[in-house]
Amino acid sequence: MKKIGFIGLGNMGSKMCVHLIKAGHDVSGYDINEKLTDELLGHGIKKEISISSIAKNKDIIFTMLPNGSIVDEVLKNVLSNTINKPIIIDCSTIEVDKSKELYKLALYQKISLLDAPVSGGTIGAKNGTLTFMVGGDQSTFNEMSPILNIMGSKSVYCGETGSGQATKLCNNMLLAITMIGVAESFNMAKKLKLDLSILFDVVSTATGSCWAVNNYCPIPNVGPLSPADNNFLPGFSAKLMAKDLNLAVDAAKTSNSNIGFGEKAKELFTKMSEGNNGDKDFSAIIEEIYNY
Ligand code: NAD
Repeated sequence: MKKIGFIGLGNMGSKMCVHLIKAGHDVSGYDINEKLTDELLGHGIKKEISISSIAKNKDIIFTMLPNGSIVDEVLKNVLSNTINKPIIIDCSTIEVDKSKELYKLALYQKISLLDAPVSGGTIGAKNGTLTFMVGGDQSTFNEMSPILNIMGSKSVYCGETGSGQATKLCNNMLLAITMIGVAESFNMAKKLKLDLSILFDVVSTATGSCWAVNNYCPIPNVGPLSPADNNFLPGFSAKLMAKDLNLAVDAAKTSNSNIGFGEKAKELFTKMSEGNNGDKDFSAIIEEIYNY
């Protein structure tokens, strides 16, 4: 049994930590929104009321926070308050460079830090089927993967620090671009008066097939069940996709990568996230494009 601190008990963290408790670990939680910790008391979480208290005497500290500047503030606070040397696992999606910077800071105190962003969304968090993309020291990953696998069905070592974040951003940028492609294709098909079920039948087994069309087709009653069949309730919101595309564009700048389609995808999803559809699933980009 490990003593685990879990910081950030929002849509994802609140569901992830429950699996750790069920597996028999001693889990303490902290969120600036105290109500969220209170809601987990029935599951057996121990309530901490500050970072300085949760940082003490833990074997592992997880963070699942909104963005890089919050992770920065929280982890610096953890590092200055910890007594022993917990392994820190940041599951938030943040800047690649911020992950690397925090890794170095932790290393200075001989503390291991993994960047371990996830895919699978809130459903994956609830069902314990997340995929963890992990960067940092391989030996720390080997030690921690049994713990990650309690909350997920797969954890992949992606390489040195920052590689987990980089892998996540490459995946999500590709997902955004392919979803825009699917949206354009199905919108044009509509205007050409095609039967969209027949189009799906063909495309999903032809060279145009991809995850966005085969598993997440943005047309109601076409393909497997997806947010399109539920008024585009997320799933993965356009706001979160816009956030990830911003991070991808940053990573492209620092690595001198040419991502013309990624930049266009960032522009489209940022516009969507700032409008009325920002809280809808990202696949509702099909409506934005249709209405241009
Ligand atoms: P969320 O906003 O629901 O949860 C974040 C939590 O952090 C909130 O409860 C907030 O009160 C808490 N928080 C903020 N500042 C804090 C601080 N200083 N100290 C302690 N707690 C603080 O976000 P989420 O949807 O759970 O996402 C968390 C991370 O996971 C994000 O980085 C997001 O990009 C990533 N992610 C989310 C999804 C998804 O589908 N929601 C999927 C994959 C990855």
